[in-house]
Order: sequence, then structure tokens, then C-alpha cells
Amino acid sequence: MAGTIHISEYNQEQSKTIQMVRNHLKTLSRSEQTRIKTRIRSYLLFRKEVAEFLQHHFSELCTQKCYQNHYSACCGREGITTFFADVLVNVLMSSEKETGRLLQVLGLSDIGAKCVYLGKTGCLWRIKPIVCEMFLCEHARKTVFGRDPLALKEWKRLRLRNKRYTWPNRPVLFDDLESCFIRAGHSSTLMYFHNSPGLLRVKRLAAKKRETALQESHRIKPLV
Ligand code: SF4
Repeated sequence: MAGTIHISEYNQEQSKTIQMVRNHLKTLSRSEQTRIKTRIRSYLLFRKEVAEFLQHHFSELCTQKCYQNHYSACCGREGITTFFADVLVNVLMSSEKETGRLLQVLGLSDIGAKCVYLGKTGCLWRIKPIVCEMFLCEHARKTVFGRDPLALKEWKRLRLRNKRYTWPNRPVLFDDLESCFIRAGHSSTLMYFHNSPGLLRVKRLAAKKRETALQESHRIKPLV
């Protein structure tokens, strides 16, 4: 029908989650909000380090390759994965206006094969999704790491640190933040740590491993 706006399922899911997070945060007292900010402090420091690393090693190359040439391989895909915790961290650290801008673009009709969050001057998120932050295209990796092995070593270290927040073979922040909202009675399709079969399997296997290790440690008698 002429004039009908088609909003994709992806946009609707994103929008619902952003609104739910924004509304819930508004119901919290200042001290409750501070508690969440304290909980994510070390993650934000990690993100700052990653941003500085990328700025130092990749900004020149990416500016030339992606922005000036309009290549933008990393943001040229539709439906980028965002975790619930990505949304929470971003909304928490954004102004009302910034969050409003995200909701505004999500409410627009689909505009083709690029990320909905890609604005004229780059990503509209204040703290972009972790999947985006940790993505380096092959060309960038080969160019920079090929001439600087120390940078590669540092990048591997940062990737390992990323796992400590996002890989649930142990209790991790991203899982924990979902749990907080679930306990408050909320749900979202972006709560992958509670609804993705792959991540649930990682959690189950890790719990089983921990339990076996505990049983083993009880079985081993001290050598005295
Ligand atoms: S969310 Fe931002 S960084 Fe990630 S693909 Fe979209 S525009 Fe690019």
C-alpha cells in the first residue's frame, strides 16, 4: 500500500529493547543507577583501551580505506548483532537526545544493505556494540599486523580480555546484566546469554566442568 512504512523485525527488536532499557532506568533511583555504573566501570575502561588501540594503529588506514572511499566494510552489513548488555551500557552512558536518535532511525523504513545505525558522520552509538568494536577486516589486519607484531600481540591480549566480559564459560558481565533485568521482570530477544542455544550450551558445559573439578578436589586426599 502506498505510504506504508515497513519496519523490519530487526529494527523492531532493537527499538523495543532500547525503549525497555530506557524506561526501566528512569524508574531507578540515582544510587541504583550508580550501582550499575560501578558494575560496568572496568568494562568501560577496557573499551577505552580498545578505542585507544584502534585509534593509534588503525585510524589512518580505516579513514582512508573506508570513509574516504565509502567502502565501510564493517558497517555495510544489515542486522549487526547487538547484545542486551550492549544496549544497556550504551543507553546508560548516552544522553536522551542520543538515545532518541537511535529510536528515530529504527523507526524509518528500511534503507538498504547497510547498518541502520550508520549515520553521516559514523556510528550513532556512543559506545558501539562489542561485535563492531572488536571487528577488524582482513585488509586492516594484514596491513597493520603484518608490519607490527607487537600490535598483534596487544590485540590478542585485548581479545582475551573481551572474553572475560562476554564469553560465558565463567560468570561474565554481559550475562549478569541480563540477569538483573530478568529479575526485574523484563525480557528481550537480545538476551542471548539466556536464549541463544549456543551460549546456553557454553554455560552448561562450563558449569559441568566446574562441578567435576570440585568433586575431584574433594576426592584428592592431602599427602600428610
Ligand atoms: S552499530 Fe555502528 S559500528 Fe556497528 S555496524 Fe552499525 S554503524 Fe557500524
